[in-house]
Amino acid sequence: MSRSANAPTVVVFDGDDTLWTTEPLYDEARQRARREVAAAGVDGAEWERLERATDVKNVTVMGFSVERFPTSCVQAYEAICAASDRPPRDDVRERVRNAALAVFTSDPPLIPGAMAALGALRRQGVQLALLTKGDFAVQQMRVAHSGIADRFETVRIVMDKTPAAFGELVEGLGGIPAHSWSVGNSMRSDILPALAAGLRAIWIEAHVWEHERFAHGALPAGVIEARTLQDVPDVICAHDTSHRRRRVPAAF
Ligand SMILES: [Mg+2]
Repeated sequence: MSRSANAPTVVVFDGDDTLWTTEPLYDEARQRARREVAAAGVDGAEWERLERATDVKNVTVMGFSVERFPTSCVQAYEAICAASDRPPRDDVRERVRNAALAVFTSDPPLIPGAMAALGALRRQGVQLALLTKGDFAVQQMRVAHSGIADRFETVRIVMDKTPAAFGELVEGLGGIPAHSWSVGNSMRSDILPALAAGLRAIWIEAHVWEHERFAHGALPAGVIEARTLQDVPDVICAHDTSHRRRRVPAAF
């Protein structure tokens, strides 16, 4: 038998907002910071608008470091103070920063059905990998606290999800890209680099921030949209040529 016929199906999962939710942590922290600036006499709605815009801009200079979100929150406060010609207060800066930092110490909740979906895939004989990007210590904490790390053959934390990162992960598990899948919520981070590495991809829309939002149009070739995480095992089983060929349900 050729290596291709023997190669296992490898499924590479994203973490943030695919297996666990982080956006509620940001939303909660942002609302706490907003209450702090409002208590200091700043227009909360204007602050929030500016904070969101600043945070997207700061990705280019600060990437996904833990400093970015708290910095954006403080910078938005400072910019509003500057525009209204009043000095920013140190105590407000500090309270805004502390409110923002809660994002990195709170445990994100698992997406409903995450455990069941991973269990079903393992029963299908699939090799599971977790590829998550961001600050190493924060991601390590999220993986450890998620309670699902032991479901994966490999867990890798990277600064950026490149096609090479997907390729190496698949190869490390004895797979080949054509039999492998990437599952994630971000077109930019989970889907496009995986396609470039020759994998197929399942995109699950999530409530995500402005930097990751995907203007919904036609999906690229090789991408299937799943409504929820629970649909992933069926989608993969239906398309998995290494097991048996089955007609793809119309819903997919
Ligand atoms: Mg994600």
